[in-house]
Amino acid sequence: MNSGHPTPSSFRQPEKHDPLGNLVVGADSPAAYQHLLRTHSDDPLRVFIAHMDHPGFHGVRWLNQRVLTIKWHGGSPVKHLNGARVWLADAEGEIGDGVLRRVTLNTLRYGVDTAEVHLATELFSNHRPAADELFGGFKFRKPVWKSGSLLYTKAADDLIGAFCIVATALEAFGKRSAKTSPPFIGLLTRGEEVGFIGAIGHFELGWLQAARRPLICVSLEASRTLPGAIVGQGPVVRLGDRRTLFESGGTQLLTELAEKILPKKYQRRVMDGGTCEGTAATAFGFPTIALTVPLGNYHNQGFEGGPDCRAPQGPAPEFVHLDDVEGQRKLCLALLRAKLPWTDPMKKMRGRLQKNYRDYRSHL
Ligand SMILES: [Zn+2]
Repeated sequence: MNSGHPTPSSFRQPEKHDPLGNLVVGADSPAAYQHLLRTHSDDPLRVFIAHMDHPGFHGVRWLNQRVLTIKWHGGSPVKHLNGARVWLADAEGEIGDGVLRRVTLNTLRYGVDTAEVHLATELFSNHRPAADELFGGFKFRKPVWKSGSLLYTKAADDLIGAFCIVATALEAFGKRSAKTSPPFIGLLTRGEEVGFIGAIGHFELGWLQAARRPLICVSLEASRTLPGAIVGQGPVVRLGDRRTLFESGGTQLLTELAEKILPKKYQRRVMDGGTCEGTAATAFGFPTIALTVPLGNYHNQGFEGGPDCRAPQGPAPEFVHLDDVEGQRKLCLALLRAKLPWTDPMKKMRGRLQKNYRDYRSHL
């Protein structure tokens, strides 16, 4: 949400938007993107996907100089909301803060539906911006701060994924020789929290379907902690989400890579606390694998509590472990290695099974 306006038919420097306003990293024009997709190669193009939005509100209507009615988009805490602090921004950045009043929950009761934002001060004595130009979310002591190895922030979901894409691009493009392009595209999407609409819009362009080489989509997320997906125990090889299981061969390759790069410092499970853009990519027929960093206080809900948590289950800053973020970054970079066994990812496992067969065959 709120990441700028669409730029029809061309990437705009330096952000490189697609027509939906998603940011494309790793190709500085549509022509360069098409070139990567049309390059004949057995090596799949890795399409890393993370989203830039986070649950929050859009302004709807001014009731008076200090009271704005709002509509919430995406998940949120459902308790201790009246009086909770929020920040307010326009397209240029944060312009003030206020508190929530008269909160109503959505029908499925997984988040706020509507509320009033009561501004802390009268912000606009002369020119008051139109209500629908304003947006915001929960406010804490700072937008981001560190405490030991934990990073607390108003929005780790999915800025951690976006960070990993940008960090991977810097490393991959920093090292390359002038002639070769790494098999990398980063897609930083909009509107994930209302149903992956930025990713879906990108897939609907048909660009990826026109590729003349194999593709592998890599969904990067920060997802709700679950048993076996604990903050600080490493990034998670995400076998699936709440709706879909991901591609088994690619997932096996990713698991073996994790074992090599982060021995005993990675986790592996179906992260069914939510859905991710891996489901959208899978639904459009793209082979997809996924990584995720365990996330404390998912969608600012105080499940785990900690500093600035208003009350149990109430608004709270999200948090992640810096080692988990670093592990995810390393795995992204490792996925770009040449000569990974994408065409036969089960080879090693098949070898182990065949050995077992040979060892026990005489007992048959
Ligand atoms: Zn997310």
